[in-house]
Amino acid sequence: MVMYSHSKISTFEQCPYKFKLRYIDKIIPEVEKTIEAHLGSAVHNTLEWLYQKAKEADSKKEIPTLDDLIIYYSDQWKKDFSQEILIVRDNMTSKDYFNKGVEFLVNYFKKHHPFDDGTIELEKKIIFSLDSDGKYEIIGFIDRLAKNAQTGDFEIHDYKTANSLPSKEKIETDRQLALYALAIKDIHGYDNEVTLNWHYLAHNKKITSKRTNEELKELRKQTLQLIKKIESANEFPANKSALCGWCEYKSMCPLFEKKVKENESAKKQGQVQESTEQQNTKSKENSEQSQKPKTEKREIKREIEINKPKTKTKPLDNKKYPTISKYLKD
Ligand code: SF4
Repeated sequence: MVMYSHSKISTFEQCPYKFKLRYIDKIIPEVEKTIEAHLGSAVHNTLEWLYQKAKEADSKKEIPTLDDLIIYYSDQWKKDFSQEILIVRDNMTSKDYFNKGVEFLVNYFKKHHPFDDGTIELEKKIIFSLDSDGKYEIIGFIDRLAKNAQTGDFEIHDYKTANSLPSKEKIETDRQLALYALAIKDIHGYDNEVTLNWHYLAHNKKITSKRTNEELKELRKQTLQLIKKIESANEFPANKSALCGWCEYKSMCPLFEKKVKENESAKKQGQVQESTEQQNTKSKENSEQSQKPKTEKREIKREIEINKPKTKTKPLDNKKYPTISKYLKD
């Protein structure tokens, strides 16, 4: 029996070399976590806690308040935070990311309170066979599974903390939630409808889609073919993309190894010079910035452009809820 997850399959599609390092050589990277991953897990844990509390509540009074929510989020943030966490973007600090999470949660709370949309399970683990022999299995976790009392549909809810909104085509061909729909239909029967819901928290927006049984049958077939392709692969070439900036294996990558070492050595030299000359910090930073290789600066700029929010988050209703500044770090 071979077990695959959506992220394992996606890693192969994104970069076969990264796939080899992670899943075949089983190398644990030096920097295991990016700040985006840290933000994502703090926000996910907080929303899981919120819905668990709402499920257990006998009355609306027992549902956590906005203050409770942000206190819980702050604890989650502190619990797993370390100075080793990788921050790729030059213009962002860990405080900025913490504040982003606050904004996501305040907006979500305001829009969805009192969280009574028929939640059945949280962080639901699913394992199901792709083939009739049970040789290839898919494992995954559904952020939240609900049963809509009005429509009778099962609802798969997924939280996204990335800045960018997906295209319509990407939503209609998204594999992860469609695989989860297959799992739910395998359990509850193919007569049931399953809706796929993505919550893009940076935009305070929910995007919904559905798959027909025919589409799911085709997805099962294609995913099996892809896994068989991975299983028979002999070569694992590195594939450079905008995502390389967030890759934990960059220092081991043949496309970046030399550049990473050069940057580290340039950084060390810069530190020695700074302590010797006791220069003004600001002018020193500017000077170091201007010494960065042009190609690297271009790449960072491109990554920032790609991830820039396309729409602004709605302003909060301050009459009903406290101002967001109450919760932000200075
Ligand atoms: S840095 Fe880019 S090319 Fe290199 S392993 Fe990571 S994803 Fe692949």
